[in-house]
Amino acid sequence: MTYQNYSLKQLQQIDAAHHLHPFSDHKELREAGSRIITRANGPFIYDSEGAELLDGMAGLWCVNIGYGRDELAEAAYAQMKELPYYNSFFKCSTPTPVLLSKKLAEIAPKNVNQVFYGSSGSEANDTALRLVRHYWVIEGKPEKNRIISRKMAYHGSTIAATSLGGMDAMHRQLSGAVPNIVHVMMPYAYELALPGESDHDFGLRAAKSVEDAILEAGADKVAAFIGEPVMGAGGVKIPPASYWPEVQRICRKYDVLLMLDEVITGYGRTGEWFAAQTFGIEPDTITTAKALTSGYQPLSALLVGDRIASTLVDKGGEFNHGYTYSGHPVACAVALKNLEIIEQEGLVERVRNDTGPYFAKALQERIAGHDLVGEVRSIGLMGAIEIVKDKATKERFLPSGSAAVTVRDHAIANGMMLRATGDTMILSPPLIWTRDTIDMACERISKALDLAQVDLRKR
Ligand SMILES: *Cc1c(COP(=O)(O)O)cnc(C)c1O
Repeated sequence: MTYQNYSLKQLQQIDAAHHLHPFSDHKELREAGSRIITRANGPFIYDSEGAELLDGMAGLWCVNIGYGRDELAEAAYAQMKELPYYNSFFKCSTPTPVLLSKKLAEIAPKNVNQVFYGSSGSEANDTALRLVRHYWVIEGKPEKNRIISRKMAYHGSTIAATSLGGMDAMHRQLSGAVPNIVHVMMPYAYELALPGESDHDFGLRAAKSVEDAILEAGADKVAAFIGEPVMGAGGVKIPPASYWPEVQRICRKYDVLLMLDEVITGYGRTGEWFAAQTFGIEPDTITTAKALTSGYQPLSALLVGDRIASTLVDKGGEFNHGYTYSGHPVACAVALKNLEIIEQEGLVERVRNDTGPYFAKALQERIAGHDLVGEVRSIGLMGAIEIVKDKATKERFLPSGSAAVTVRDHAIANGMMLRATGDTMILSPPLIWTRDTIDMACERISKALDLAQVDLRKR
């Protein structure tokens, strides 16, 4: 690669001239110039100016084993030399997706044993939607095709994934969503619990909104409920313990399939391989991507439960769906090596028993007390910090979202990459973080909060 021959300014100019970015206001981006990340190692990323940043977002919720892992590069290299590509259509297969499927069936919940591959979480959710609707058609109930999702859900950016998601700003640019998808309330106690309502009762009430939606349509019209076990892009919204068991009970009662989107929560983030195990859920589908390869290759795996799989296999005929890169040999080789490393280094157990609890305690003890912080919450290595103007009343700064951006900008200037979504700061670090890395993050975040407070007072 020869990017070193270009100055930062040149790269920014070329970027502005030719590169359309995801989720960006292009005019603003072009005025500011993009921040160009050139290399990374362990928990750190480096920009073209040499600034070192602790990466609190694991890239984008994906680099679970950290950067600079030669083993993954070597796995890709070896596979590319032996067989860079062959398809999985027309009764063909290649070795790495075969072995990866076996591994995924081993670590998934007991009732989940089949895998359909794609290259992104959005694609996997498209597959999930088609598969679930197809399932009911095969079962002789074509009318049972409505999907219940939630407001502020994020399921990806293709038309089907956007339709499944509950982001208003995305729907506004859709000019017509995939029909028959409805959105119910999210299990977000901090803003939605009634005065005096316990977390437990709030969780049951949020689950009840799923039942209400089923009853409104009629159970014979509802195919499935889809949800992220912990809402990620929507602001790391962790449901009360009462929520998921009740949602599962409701789905079973009305024979509604349960689809989990574990694109963020999969592969160790909550202290189990899957959040389904953390919350004790037996889903019919589990969408996964991101940390499946720790982001080193684009790959998604839709994990399919026995109920759907056996119908599809026994009476489905041909499923007219698939991607050129379904089961890509190189991506699957990298995923296999990634899972092997997670296992060998005990990262899932470490999150469950050590770093997860330490992270929770550190946020509580060192961040929650700050004047700007309304609440901190975390599960495993996934956390949120609510930015407020007034802790007691939960009043936010105006315009909405601006205060979190101020905190984020100070954090970045002080060597800490984290993300602002609405009025919430979110964290999703690599699972290789240690107690020391967590200490370092808390120090940098505290400093950013202090500096932001000075700015916000001046306004
Ligand atoms: C990122 C994400 C997706 C979309 O994955 P892409 O690979 O960006 O298509 C879907 N669902 C959830 C929960 C995500 O966080």
